[in-house]
Amino acid sequence: MKAFPFKRVLITGGAGFIGGCLVRRLLRESNSFIFNLDKLGYASDTSGIDQCLHDITNDSAKRYQLLHVDLCDKNSLDHAIELADPDLVIHLAAESHVDRSIDSPKAFLDSNVLGTFNLLESVRSHWQKLPLARKTSFRFHHVSTDEVFGSLGESGRFNEKTSYDPRSPYSASKAASDHLVRAFNHTYDLQIVITNCSNNFGPWQFPEKLIPLVILKALHLESIPLYGDGLNVRDWLYVEDHVEALILVASKGVIGSSYCVGGYGERTNREVVNQICSIMDLRKPVDNLHSELITAVRDRPGHDKRYSIDSSLITSELGWTPKYSFKDALILTIDWYINNVEWCNKVSAKGDYAGGRIGLNKP
Ligand code: NAD
Repeated sequence: MKAFPFKRVLITGGAGFIGGCLVRRLLRESNSFIFNLDKLGYASDTSGIDQCLHDITNDSAKRYQLLHVDLCDKNSLDHAIELADPDLVIHLAAESHVDRSIDSPKAFLDSNVLGTFNLLESVRSHWQKLPLARKTSFRFHHVSTDEVFGSLGESGRFNEKTSYDPRSPYSASKAASDHLVRAFNHTYDLQIVITNCSNNFGPWQFPEKLIPLVILKALHLESIPLYGDGLNVRDWLYVEDHVEALILVASKGVIGSSYCVGGYGERTNREVVNQICSIMDLRKPVDNLHSELITAVRDRPGHDKRYSIDSSLITSELGWTPKYSFKDALILTIDWYINNVEWCNKVSAKGDYAGGRIGLNKP
């Protein structure tokens, strides 16, 4: 990694899927001290980071500290910020699964809205006390989603000027957090950047999300649920490409700006599920085609039809483009899940997730 300019980095949500990938990348490729603040919720697991700490030198491993803190606990949060004394905060901690936000929206308001507000308050107080040089170079990077923009028709793409139109409790809570972050920039001059990224996939993702869920169902020869007509479109991005974008924006993004990050990987859910099944036919051949396991199930309430991202700003300003093709990244991901079934069983049991349907708004 070319000259990562921050000595002390606080990452929130580093025990989750994307945060974990970011923590590992920074431990391997920078000299920064990394503080991973996480409440260690149902989707958290630090096995990937533990493996990384084992693989790097002892001196590098000493640059890492886990802070078990809930953003809703303001006192503990203040202490954690004081201890970490960060030059950069990358904020990923959030409740992140749309289906769960349909069943239990309040947890999303607590973590994503109140949690972000608490973090902004703690960070503002820390930042205001920094000596001038550190204060000037300080950054708060808020990691958000393309879902804040709502749903597209057949054509068009989201970009940085697209109006907000969130339509699920998850996306509404993320939109609220984006607005709070911008408000702290306009009102207090806190030096913020925001990224709005499309759907991620890759190793270490909790098994409730579409791609790992389908891989595991196919592997266990269980019925593979396809929501509605399967024609909802998502713009898939490999997690390593997202992390690359986060590092670039944190280091070089223009203060006060937001950047849309997408994979130019638009596909219907049906195409994604079929492609996973075709790869599984080669990797784990059985008598029947894996696609025969696909079963249409009731659609997600309020299911957004299409997301697509125009990433031209981050490409022209910062030189970012995705390095992985969808197919290559999907093969890497499928092979990883085939080789890590034990991990999947462990985190599913820990998170009390048995692979069943959630998000139907049942009373
Ligand atoms: P994840 O659910 O795998 O991890 C989130 C982590 O945040 C978990 O470890 C959880 O314990 C932690 N967390 C939640 N609430 C907290 C709180 N109150 N205090 C402290 N920690 C808390 O999620 P992810 O997929 O890694 O997503 C990370 C971020 O990226 C989220 O902000 C999400 O909105 C955003 N994002 C995700 C995607 C995607 O496809 N996964 C796409 C775009 C943006």
